[in-house]
Amino acid sequence: MYALALVLVAVVFAALAPRLMARLTLFRRSPRAALVAWQAVSLAAVIAALCAAPAAIPYLTRTEWFACSGDCAATITWIQTRRWLVFGVAAAVTLFVLGRLMLSGHRIGTRLRAARARHRELVDVLAEPISFSSQSGRRADGIRVLDHATPTAYCLPGRRSRVVLTQGALAALPADELDAVLVHERAHLRGRHDLLIEYFTVLHHSVPDPVRSPEALREVQLLVEALADRAAVRQSGPVTTARALMTLAQGRAPEAGLAAGGHGTTAARMRLLADEPLPAVTVAVMYAYAAVVLVLPLALLWLAWR
Ligand SMILES: [Zn+2]
Repeated sequence: MYALALVLVAVVFAALAPRLMARLTLFRRSPRAALVAWQAVSLAAVIAALCAAPAAIPYLTRTEWFACSGDCAATITWIQTRRWLVFGVAAAVTLFVLGRLMLSGHRIGTRLRAARARHRELVDVLAEPISFSSQSGRRADGIRVLDHATPTAYCLPGRRSRVVLTQGALAALPADELDAVLVHERAHLRGRHDLLIEYFTVLHHSVPDPVRSPEALREVQLLVEALADRAAVRQSGPVTTARALMTLAQGRAPEAGLAAGGHGTTAARMRLLADEPLPAVTVAVMYAYAAVVLVLPLALLWLAWR
């Protein structure tokens, strides 16, 4: 019955655990640990679904259950029918999730890379390259400025990454806030947050709509922004970073980019700027939770084959 337990674990990690975790807004105060926990739960849901069919194979081949004495033909028939039913359910879940995983991986990866390449070409044609020295004395190169009045800042990740600002952002942001915005965008690029979101989105879409939790993707996007905000706070302080977020709150980034503001998450991020990081013990519990969640489906598979 480990196969069915794995199916149950997959449903719990895809549907129930994310809804409960999304209520624990305390997690956001340590965005890195929270991201690890969220990734672990999503990955564990997919691993559990993929392990269901392999875990049902020993159930089909074991013969000790047939060692009943006397006239037990009816019992044997019932057990055989049930074994194939269990295998059928497990195999259907595994194949379904495997198919969706491959399809979503291909679709999302292809779409994002094409959108990024297209937008990068547009930015290179329409935007003006600038470079300037930040307040800390560091020279910032490779920045493109679009002639648009709405204050917006975003980055286009990839090998030929770009940081894009609008004229509206340059006009509205004082030098210290502009510094904070650039540090935020550089944190996205340096940490390859695009890959993190892409990987999570693929896992998220490999689970069918009625099962997966919409809170999961929203929360991961917020945590990625909070992580980049932490870098800005270290450089510019919470007040300057908060002011910059307010200025950019109306800005919108293209699907292919990672913005500094907007997404309707500004209020939540402003609250996080003022919060103290979680105590080390709580962070350790979050990492332990992620480890347990990841080990659980593999342990169930091992028990099935033991
Ligand atoms: Zn951002």
